[in-house]
Amino acid sequence: MKIKAVRTHILQAELSQALACSRGWFSTRTAMLVEIETDRGIVGWGECYGPARITAAAVEHVAPWLIGEDPVRSDYLWQLIYARMRDHGQKGAVIQALGGIDIALWDIKGKYFDAPVHQLLGGPQRTRISAYATGLYRRRAADPIQYLAEEAAGYVAEGFSALKLRVGFGVEEDAAVTRAVREAIGPSAALMIDANHAYDSIAAIRLGRMIEQHDVRWFEEPVPPEDIAGYRAVRSALSIPIAGGECEFTRFGFRELFVMHALDIAQPDTCAAGGLSECKKIADMAEAFGIRYNPHVWGTGIAIAASLQLLAVLPPHTRPSLMPMAPILELDRTEHPIRQAILVEPLEHVRGVIQVPEGPGLGIEVDRKALARFVAR
Ligand code: CA
Repeated sequence: MKIKAVRTHILQAELSQALACSRGWFSTRTAMLVEIETDRGIVGWGECYGPARITAAAVEHVAPWLIGEDPVRSDYLWQLIYARMRDHGQKGAVIQALGGIDIALWDIKGKYFDAPVHQLLGGPQRTRISAYATGLYRRRAADPIQYLAEEAAGYVAEGFSALKLRVGFGVEEDAAVTRAVREAIGPSAALMIDANHAYDSIAAIRLGRMIEQHDVRWFEEPVPPEDIAGYRAVRSALSIPIAGGECEFTRFGFRELFVMHALDIAQPDTCAAGGLSECKKIADMAEAFGIRYNPHVWGTGIAIAASLQLLAVLPPHTRPSLMPMAPILELDRTEHPIRQAILVEPLEHVRGVIQVPEGPGLGIEVDRKALARFVAR
């Protein structure tokens, strides 16, 4: 089998209302899909997290190296692209592009061997994955305390046992909102907070101390990803577990975070950190360092499917027993017109639990008519 063509698809959709995290407002959702076609008629799909036009340019730059190669040799092809691009992109868009390509190669590999990716990655530890609701963004509405508490209660009513709140809007306001959300969801649902690296370690520690009483499951991206010393300071000052890693890339990037014990929970994005091949390696490394792995997920059904295939094979956080604690899926509940529309069969949760796709490859089928509707001009 040989690779015949590599194509990129830049998709875009307007949102009905703008949303904000601490980094700013956004009113559109974009996606960058990678399609790899083989001479056997098998087509594989991948997705790149990151700025769509930059990742598309990076995929198109390396695409000629893939033509004529055997797509089953995914580790070899990963290393070939990484080595040729090393001088120009050990992190960021180049690795995001490599990740999208790698996911498409795994989709092909699964279809070629007629097996779901998780079977080829080592076999499933589980076939049903608990999801947490990611949402609770700011809207252009009057009182965040009121609308965020209502939104949070809605997720619990839908069946989610865990949810994640955006913070990073000022320490006092964050503390008030965290308290309101905890009161709205009751004591049994898990509550995580995500600052999207809004703070320095001084502000992050202050916020953490103000909300420790509200049983926060993790504090995500308290400080900028480059500030490893800041991560360590926050982690040693607080009893709340510290999470991060959606802005880190490859085993080489995570090696630094792990050796420095900067995190309790690593969150590589499968579509950013280097694809399924690389994230499996990062996950194995995380286990060796005693660090939990919960992937960051922010994309279309292709990103969700790739994350589910990986989540199926990850070891439990706590050793097998009657009630092992398993890694969980980040399920974005904010508006994303493209997310499920491009799948022939959407990947939906039932009471906060989602089934790992069992079909060959990623286990999904892309709806090309839907794809055409979202092509960016
Ligand atoms: Ca995040």
